[in-house]
Amino acid sequence: MSNQNLLNRSMQSVWHPCTQMQQHESFPLTPIQRGDGVWLYDADGKKYLDTVSSWWVNLFGHNNPRIKDAIKQQLDTLEHVMLAGFTHEPVVALSEQLAELTGLGHAFYASDGASATEIALKMSFHYWRNIGQPTKTKFISLQNSYHGETLGALGVTDVAIFKDTYAPLLMQSAQMPSPDFRLAEVGESAADYALRCAAQLEQYVAQHHTELAAFIIEPLVQCAAGMAMYHPVYLAKAREICSKYQVHLIADEIAVGFGRTGTMFATEQATSERCKVSDIADFVCLSKGITGGYLPLSAVLTTDNVYQAFYDPSTVRGFLHSHSYTGNPLACSAALATLAIFKADHVVQNNPVRSDAIVREMQVLTDLPIQHLRHQGMIFAFDVVTNNQQFSRQCYQLAMQHGLLLRPIGNTVYFMPPYIMSRDEIAFMVRNTHQVIKQIL
Ligand SMILES: *Cc1c(COP(=O)(O)O)cnc(C)c1O
Repeated sequence: MSNQNLLNRSMQSVWHPCTQMQQHESFPLTPIQRGDGVWLYDADGKKYLDTVSSWWVNLFGHNNPRIKDAIKQQLDTLEHVMLAGFTHEPVVALSEQLAELTGLGHAFYASDGASATEIALKMSFHYWRNIGQPTKTKFISLQNSYHGETLGALGVTDVAIFKDTYAPLLMQSAQMPSPDFRLAEVGESAADYALRCAAQLEQYVAQHHTELAAFIIEPLVQCAAGMAMYHPVYLAKAREICSKYQVHLIADEIAVGFGRTGTMFATEQATSERCKVSDIADFVCLSKGITGGYLPLSAVLTTDNVYQAFYDPSTVRGFLHSHSYTGNPLACSAALATLAIFKADHVVQNNPVRSDAIVREMQVLTDLPIQHLRHQGMIFAFDVVTNNQQFSRQCYQLAMQHGLLLRPIGNTVYFMPPYIMSRDEIAFMVRNTHQVIKQIL
């Protein structure tokens, strides 16, 4: 009863994201009361396995004692202070650690991914202006890219469902062919296809570089496009091209950062010998997993070179951007606790065991009409062959009945699980997914 009451109040008062509210007349919202580990519990005590880490943010499970304790401790000392004119230990410590991890030594903070994209775009443009190249005002991104949904970020996003309606409001940007290996010709390797796409990128950049500020890219996996994966040689080539023509490279690691693709940052895989993010990117955008899914936080890290172009007596040569909660101490302490877990538990070194176990378990799916069964680190996906236009919604709804939070993107079913999933939970996730898809087809 109280459940129904909560749902009614939510329908009256809360406008839910990425949702046609009317559809909840026939399929009600799910009221979640608590979380623990990989599980979410609804008001009736029914539990759901969080296979998507609650929109890709939760790395170490719900109700994580270490992250929780760090936030509690911070809560007793300083909950927030504005970051203009003030500083504090958590934001300094976090900036130092992120600099160490990425090789990019200057951190600018915001509260969400889209704002990080906005910051990187503005900073790049302003850099060129400050060094006397004011014609470099344009941006390029990949086909099917996703960089967030505020107006500036949406301008470099290329997902029709999010973009088309708002197109009249957006700045123009050009999209380069996506190196998504599924688009390769028959007989063409992922690497060859990536090189072919890089050649097309070079052609465009060679023609337009005098007006280009930056190329923004999701390293290794275009997640929102439906876990589109591509060969890392594309990143190395993109760096070469950007250096040759003096265009910034912005690595949007909002989804793929923090261990998701098998290395701390996906960009590290650009060369066969592991490199640093700073070897490839002029800017990196971080968010989502940064606080382990506890509090909203994002950061843009950049080079000394970019930083120095703003360092000047003149206010207007400084970077003109601010958010009220910039560098919030609670969020920074959650991020520090998350990084501490990476270190203490050797997460990047140990995740391959978990990843292999999931890949092995997923072999049971191969009797279904699926293609492109693929994985990259802790991202797993496959495409279901069906003409059913309602597939993703039906799959989501039926999965909930089977105790799974699963949110396919179109016909692409994916897992982006927290890095703590046990063998039993892996089996539960994959076998129930198999059941759900079989039932729909
Ligand atoms: C989620 C995401 C964003 C936007 O982050 P928000 O916090 O949702 O604004 C940007 N880029 C990528 C690659 C993302 O996955």
